[in-house]
Amino acid sequence: MEIIHVSAECYPMAKVGGLADVVGALPKYQQQQGHIAKVVVPMYRTKFLYENEWEVVHKGNFAMEKMNFEFTIIKESKNKLGFDLYCVDINGLLDREKVYGYDDDTERFCAFQIAVLEWINKWEHLPNVVHVHDHHAALIPFMMQHCFAYNKLKNTATLLTIHNAQYQGWMAWEKAAYLPAWNTWLWGLLDWDNIVNPLACGIKCAGKVNTVSPGYMQELMEEANGLENLFKQEYAKCSGIINGIDYIVWNPEKDTYILDNFSVIDYTEGKALNKKKLCDDFGLKKELPLFIFIGRLVGEKAADLLPEAIRSALTLYEGELNFLILGSGDTVVENALMNMQSSFVGYYNTQITYNEKLSHLMYAGADFLLMPSRVEPCGLNQLYAMRYGTVPIVRRTGGLKDTVKDIDEKNGYGLCFNYATLNDIDISIQRAIELFNNNNKMKEIRKRMMLIDNSWIASAQQYLNLYTSII
Ligand code: ADP
Repeated sequence: MEIIHVSAECYPMAKVGGLADVVGALPKYQQQQGHIAKVVVPMYRTKFLYENEWEVVHKGNFAMEKMNFEFTIIKESKNKLGFDLYCVDINGLLDREKVYGYDDDTERFCAFQIAVLEWINKWEHLPNVVHVHDHHAALIPFMMQHCFAYNKLKNTATLLTIHNAQYQGWMAWEKAAYLPAWNTWLWGLLDWDNIVNPLACGIKCAGKVNTVSPGYMQELMEEANGLENLFKQEYAKCSGIINGIDYIVWNPEKDTYILDNFSVIDYTEGKALNKKKLCDDFGLKKELPLFIFIGRLVGEKAADLLPEAIRSALTLYEGELNFLILGSGDTVVENALMNMQSSFVGYYNTQITYNEKLSHLMYAGADFLLMPSRVEPCGLNQLYAMRYGTVPIVRRTGGLKDTVKDIDEKNGYGLCFNYATLNDIDISIQRAIELFNNNNKMKEIRKRMMLIDNSWIASAQQYLNLYTSII
């Protein structure tokens, strides 16, 4: 089977969050299972772009309203990722440093999607499935079915995977003119609440729709940033497939980003050495439990609760724990987290940045990872933490509920709580300190987590079953 993934992110070419990790891993597993999996993303000016070799595979042009765009499709020539990675280069529009956050993001991602279809439309054969990810690629199923220019692609199967339904790509109706000519009586497919809603359009037009965990799909029927009724209407074609993790990139036995590699056999020494490095680097105490948070500092992750939760823990349990934060996002939260540093020297540090290497060292050296998320479609951090023997402390929501079992349950390995509140976080931190002080139990739980199989194998098979059902 031949699958082409269309996405705004793909690790290691361009990463903002979990979307990149998934699109950088699933195709690798699909290739290993004997399929052809290709990935196409915009050509941003990232480190990966400059450090690798590329060949031009296609050149074309298209008009978007009155603007004419020339585009080039380039391919990474050494097959470094285990699948073919293609990038769409549109001068001045896509070739920027950041993935998102520009005023013309609507124009950028419309142009990206049109260029991808212009290219596929010229292929001699057709892929079996066009697998689109999130709203940046969600207009593709509509365009394949209803834009006259892409008539050839009308019957090709499409799957939309929703990694985050909070962001929907809303665009004013006049911007619908960007799309190549389409049957205007079908305007209702683009519309949701009197605005063009690319994610809603993808849900209506894709052959099937999935989210990155079954729990999240259930939650979207009740709360989906305005799309609840649409999910209810379309429930028959919706499902959830839990994300796996890339066992090659996230492997404590081989990870080159960490100080000391370890396995389920020698994790005690390995984790201790990585923890010492972290504590030395950030002025923390290696004999105390080390709590970490890694992620975007936004409301979805309940990052706004972190400053108060940490202040209160470091005051109530003074001298009993350390906290290390890595993230960036909301400037109010960033400032609050940074301003606290002088009050808790020796017990608390925060790094307001994006640092892939440091994140690996933190998963490896920490004892507990805090994830009080309000919304968590799957969550990968807790899966990485578990593979590196770090106990996740999670709110029971979305994929966190599906992947973490509380230590009070049979064969449990995490600490779970129900509400994104200071009180629930506080109770969980108390439970974590108690667990840390019970050396034997802590060891047993670390081992249990490290042995769980969260690789892509099972989930990749579920994707194949979905494809088969729509081809
Ligand atoms: P989301 O996609 O909602 O941000 P996920 O848990 O699905 O959350 O994925 C987050 C990914 O981004 C993980 O690989 C995590 O390690 C990484 N990440 C997030 N923030 C940072 C950061 N500041 N530095 C390094 N890695 C980060």
